[in-house]
Amino acid sequence: MSGIVYLVGAGPGDPGLMTRRSLELIASADTILYDRLIPPGALEGARPDAELRYVGKEPGAAALSQDETNALLVELGRSGKRVVRLKGGDPFVFGRGGEEAEALAAAGVPFEVVPGVTAGVAAPAYAGIPVTHRDAASAVAFVTGHEDPDKPESALDWDALARFPGTLVLYMGIKNLPLIAERLAAAGRDPDEPVAVVERGTYPGQRTLVDRLADIAARVEAEGLRPPAITVVGPVAGLRETIAWLERRPLHGEVVAVTRARAQASGLAAQLRELGAEVVETPAIRIEPRPLEGALLDAVRGIGDYALVCLTSPNGVRLLFDALAETGQDARALAGATVGAIGPGTAAELDRNGVRADIVPEQFVAEALVEALAPVELEGRRVLLARAAEARSLLPDALRERGAELDEVALYETVAEPLGDEERAALERATYVTFTSSSTVRFLLESGARPPEGARIVSIGPITSATAQEHGLTVDVEAERHDVDGLVGALTDDAAARRVPA
Ligand code: SAH
Repeated sequence: MSGIVYLVGAGPGDPGLMTRRSLELIASADTILYDRLIPPGALEGARPDAELRYVGKEPGAAALSQDETNALLVELGRSGKRVVRLKGGDPFVFGRGGEEAEALAAAGVPFEVVPGVTAGVAAPAYAGIPVTHRDAASAVAFVTGHEDPDKPESALDWDALARFPGTLVLYMGIKNLPLIAERLAAAGRDPDEPVAVVERGTYPGQRTLVDRLADIAARVEAEGLRPPAITVVGPVAGLRETIAWLERRPLHGEVVAVTRARAQASGLAAQLRELGAEVVETPAIRIEPRPLEGALLDAVRGIGDYALVCLTSPNGVRLLFDALAETGQDARALAGATVGAIGPGTAAELDRNGVRADIVPEQFVAEALVEALAPVELEGRRVLLARAAEARSLLPDALRERGAELDEVALYETVAEPLGDEERAALERATYVTFTSSSTVRFLLESGARPPEGARIVSIGPITSATAQEHGLTVDVEAERHDVDGLVGALTDDAAARRVPA
């Protein structure tokens, strides 16, 4: 059986710019051969048993030559594998994808090409520079700046490029920029023409410089811009002043650490990224489900006998429904019970499982649920409280006081997740550190990690804040609404207030 090779573009770096097709192919590949400049996390969707091989060219490191890569693609294709050859940007724009396709064609190995968003368009776009414009550029040329323009064997006609009636987009040109700029000006390109250099376009920390053609090389040198970078020569570079948008997002430039469990971090992380923050995931805790046995198993089997069922977190809801499924039940088991939920996240998770909570307090703390339960008759009624193992005793105490016949079961335990070296280094760069529960504070600090000096501490509510203070942290921002939206809102307000000079 013959395999197939996909030459796939992974886009310029922002994972959101990967095509749907690229993600589908990564998820189904037997083997993935990848380069250095692919987006972070690009391989996360690969099959656990897929073979992942780095074939890029790292300065100093031994890697495959292009001929070896071509030969490897042919060999893998012939052996019946489904191969993804993953490259930064677009595979056919300075990606040597053309050569790989030729080698596959010559060997008779079937292949397909999946274009990607190329850096020469994407980096300028993220810098607020349209590479064409009705009034400013009717053509655009993609040029390699890799070649020394003074080399006689240069394949590029720099005089022609200087005369080119449109935008020049230079790839790989940072090192040769002084020579290139000089050469273009000498050949008649206006020395006053604006030039933009975009470093690490579409990545967090993207940097852009704009200057005159005559001065850009010195500026790049002075500011220490490094590859990967795209250089845009042409009047369109001047439009950045008006069109720049990335830097104007509310959390641009902020590095926000998310300490909640990795499995729960994605919603918060997505909201923060949407607002322009660089998010570093530094999970301090992990959710460890309790085995379905003993009192927990009894409670789940007999869930239909409770008058009131209280849930206090989305995790709890998910695990309860897993347990219901395992015991051959579903949402109908809760048909007769009043269902109480702390917070909209818990209520939303119930909703996803087909149950509308009867009682959702305005405030998202145990005290508020106690209050909201005031009108519910509890005397002599059977009540189930299903939640985390180490939770506070306020809610069970209050329920018992009101005469409830209470069963309290632990669905899961929150355990420490010590930070790895990379995560510790990431935490050091944080300008904000967010805490979404007391356990995130406790476990982070007990693991020996600490928010860096000067980082703003953000807490989801008073209980978490108190724990932070007990551990010697000063809480700079406390959410008024004790959920993820409330936390993001408070953090954003704080960032805005600090940006306006007093
Ligand atoms: N096939 C790729 C280009 C590979 S050549 C594409 O279509 O984008 C490598 C060059 O691409 C780098 O030297 C740099 O000039 C440019 N490049 C790639 N990613 C970049 C990024 N995120 N920001 C700026 N330039 C980038």
